[in-house]
Amino acid sequence: MKLRDDGCVLCGSTWGDHWADVEGTRRFFCCEVCALQFRNLLAALRRELGGTEIRRLEIAGDRHGRKVTVEHDERVIRFGFVFGPDGEVRRLHLDPAPRPTP
Ligand SMILES: [Zn+2]
Repeated sequence: MKLRDDGCVLCGSTWGDHWADVEGTRRFFCCEVCALQFRNLLAALRRELGGTEIRRLEIAGDRHGRKVTVEHDERVIRFGFVFGPDGEVRRLHLDPAPRPTP
């Protein structure tokens, strides 16, 4: 699975030092909270997508609302969601791709 590698997998911060195993690969997170949130997000996406392989995840946004772009099975889809106070994923919904501007 391709994830950002220029900072914390979830938020992109370059400070902090929390390494956590994600499906067999050690990944850099800025802190425990981001690692927990990322695991919860991955679990929520797996529930949505079933057993298909996730090739790439790209997470954007902040605590007011986040988007995750998921590349799987030759398809790219986008979800919107927020994290709850315990790092749980809330209001996960399909986010229609923006229309290309003419
Ligand atoms: Zn982080």
